[in-house]
Amino acid sequence: MSDDRKADVVIIGGGLMGAASAFFLRRRGRSVILLERGLVGQQASGVNFGNVRRQGRYLPQLPLAHRSRAIWGQLNELIGEDAEFLATGHVRGVYDEAQAAVVEQYASDARGWGLDLEIVGGSDFRRRFPFFGPDVICGSYSPNDGHANPRLAAPAFGRAAARAGAQVIENCEVLSVDKDGGDFRVQAADGRTFRAPCALICAGAWGDKLSAAFGEPVPMTPHGPTMGVTEPVPYGIVPVVGVSTKVPHEVVYFRQVKRGNIVFGGGRRGPAYPDIKRAYVLPENTLLQLRELRRLAPALGKLQVLRTWSGIEGYMRDELPVMGPSGRVSGLYYAFGFCGHGFQLGPGVGDVMAELIATGATSTPIEPFHIRRFAVQPVSSWAPASPAAQATA
Ligand SMILES: Cc1cc2nc3c(=O)[nH]c(=O)nc-3n(C[C@H](O)[C@H](O)[C@H](O)COP(=O)(O)OP(=O)(O)OC[C@H]3O[C@@H](n4cnc5c(N)ncnc54)[C@H](O)[C@@H]3O)c2cc1C
Repeated sequence: MSDDRKADVVIIGGGLMGAASAFFLRRRGRSVILLERGLVGQQASGVNFGNVRRQGRYLPQLPLAHRSRAIWGQLNELIGEDAEFLATGHVRGVYDEAQAAVVEQYASDARGWGLDLEIVGGSDFRRRFPFFGPDVICGSYSPNDGHANPRLAAPAFGRAAARAGAQVIENCEVLSVDKDGGDFRVQAADGRTFRAPCALICAGAWGDKLSAAFGEPVPMTPHGPTMGVTEPVPYGIVPVVGVSTKVPHEVVYFRQVKRGNIVFGGGRRGPAYPDIKRAYVLPENTLLQLRELRRLAPALGKLQVLRTWSGIEGYMRDELPVMGPSGRVSGLYYAFGFCGHGFQLGPGVGDVMAELIATGATSTPIEPFHIRRFAVQPVSSWAPASPAAQATA
């Protein structure tokens, strides 16, 4: 089957990044083809924890996180669906004085980046957050963060993009992308081809294969964060709750949805295999999580776990995403490898990538995420791979 559809921009990958980019590109008047191997939002974007959290982020990422948070608050007006976003606040418990000092320093630094955090201690802490266990000595509270339903967000952006005129094509696996004259030529597994002068790679944990085919390999490793959900109990815990700690296995977090269930995550990640599109929960990781959850909020220890799951996420060596223009190929852009914290950023990433592609610049700084930080060879020594050697992602 040959198709050879053409647009201003072709996006590979229909997770939250690809779907939001398609929507915002349409708002800027660009014609868009969005190609998704499965269904929009089926991978990491649809199975994540749902944290819309800014506190704890790498400080230079906060401008992007603020831009995204503003969009989360306007989803209904913007795309006609709210994805169950709730600005519930987000609190991180602290177990010892040394970490309390770290949290205070972060709060002081974050203020300069436009994020106001409240350090809450003493009796006020117990009164406001009575669910914390006795080991928790204080907390860092971010009043305007919250959570949303990951099952809804990316599909909602995909539908909004389609309503705005984007061609959203599901069940379309991209085998290769190469530059042919002025256009990118995208070859799909079913024989269809697509052309555009701009290509945006939003392929999540599969993005490295596509960037490598353009001579830009990146150190990305797939992992599967460990998730679970309990039986429902009366709604009572409003904020998203986490831990600030340097001890990896102490990192757990949870949120209660209005229906009453507690969704939880954190701790050790399980194995993830992008080639077979599977990520596994190791039972021992769930048991460790439950132990830490009981320490953080003892009442949760009484609840039955209904279900556990995971998803495939790409983690870069430096824990920062790849976002921005290619360092080698004009018209090529990347937004992938969001290292377990891309759900909050998704709407902002879409807005920023659309701005970058449409205007050549972005008002939100994204320089720290440029792919050139991993450059291994000078630009002049790179030649495009032959079609046979192109990535099959
Ligand atoms: C279990 C889990 C919990 C998480 N919790 C949180 C959280 O609470 N808060 C937070 O901010 N972040 C969280 N994250 C991270 C967040 O989910 C991701 O960073 C974000 O969803 C990445 O979006 P994406 O669009 O880049 O990737 P994805 O959602 O993985 O989308 C990429 C898409 O590209 C498609 N694709 C790949 N290759 C091809 C190809 N060759 N042809 C066609 N299509 C292709 C895939 O099918 C996929 O749909 C979590 C992640 C996981 C896995």
